[in-house]
Amino acid sequence: MTEVLSTTFIPEEFSQKLLSWFDQHGRHDLPWQHPRSPYRVWLSEIMLQQTQVSTVIGYFNKFVERFPQVADLAAAPIDDVLVYWAGLGYYARARNLHKAAIKVMQEFEGEFPKQTEQLQTLPGIGRSTAGAILAQAFNLREPILDGNVKRVLTRVEGIHGWPGLPAIEKNLWQIAEAYTPEERVVDYTQAIMDLGATLCTRSKPRCVECPFQSGCQAHLNNETSDLPTRKPKKQTPTVERYLLVLQDADGRFLMERRPATGIWGGLWCFPESEKDSDLDTALESWKPHFPISKHFDLAEPFKHTFSHYHVILKPVLMNIDGTLPAIREEGLAWMHLEQNDLALPAPISQWLASGNLSQHQLL
Ligand code: SF4
Repeated sequence: MTEVLSTTFIPEEFSQKLLSWFDQHGRHDLPWQHPRSPYRVWLSEIMLQQTQVSTVIGYFNKFVERFPQVADLAAAPIDDVLVYWAGLGYYARARNLHKAAIKVMQEFEGEFPKQTEQLQTLPGIGRSTAGAILAQAFNLREPILDGNVKRVLTRVEGIHGWPGLPAIEKNLWQIAEAYTPEERVVDYTQAIMDLGATLCTRSKPRCVECPFQSGCQAHLNNETSDLPTRKPKKQTPTVERYLLVLQDADGRFLMERRPATGIWGGLWCFPESEKDSDLDTALESWKPHFPISKHFDLAEPFKHTFSHYHVILKPVLMNIDGTLPAIREEGLAWMHLEQNDLALPAPISQWLASGNLSQHQLL
């Protein structure tokens, strides 16, 4: 049995409301609307992917003046294309644009294909961009689902869950398809993008001016700041390390120079245990390299946060008496921590400055 899709509005009502609003408030004078060709619509769609309309207009006009047709773009050297793209950022878009133009010339005889599957074989064109080209350039009933449209639909329908999740995205495509009308699909496509960009903005949407306010679930339930659901933050992992704080009779500490690359590269630090070691394993692993004793004390652990993880550092305090063992391994040295020229990682300096170490009577 086919599942019947239920939507907040009857599709005809949705498109009528949107088109009436568009007739009064939509954008009708964008340069790619006059004339509207597959090449110009495609170009505008790619430029608009990460950039606002007001910024794109100037770039678009200069670009089509230099490359009026897809053949001109395909024939141009990439460096020339990049000059006309400079300032729009995200240069992969310009490179894909150039590759796609070449492909249109070589594989489609200079004409943009009219099937979504074929359009999506062109570099830089996904389902939504293909939909926008087919709807706007060929007047075909194809839905779009760019960021603006996702925002409008999740709010109107009251859809919770991050729109990047496959199940949510699938549902949104079904709704986008259901709402796309048979008639005036060119205007409808522009209208839903305009509504998302101008009224149904990410923060402070202007619901009192919106044609959907009578039924919009987010508006009625006071959830416009919760929808669309934000991308879940990744849990930042936490690792634990033991630090060997070994002091000799002269008050010097055994320090180890860290490898040149990686965290705290090239700085001097207390020797650190391997990842995921428990205390016994850490002590065992230090034994062959350092003159450690059986007696030790544990200082209060402290935490440091890197960009991708937290580390909890657990100082193991020890001292040695008797003869100072010679340190032969390169990158190890006995040092007074007061030495000014000692490059220590900031969290280690801060821990030493906190006085935490001096509270302990080393054994
Ligand atoms: S009523 Fe508000 S939240 Fe709903 S679609 Fe309109 S502007 Fe967006």
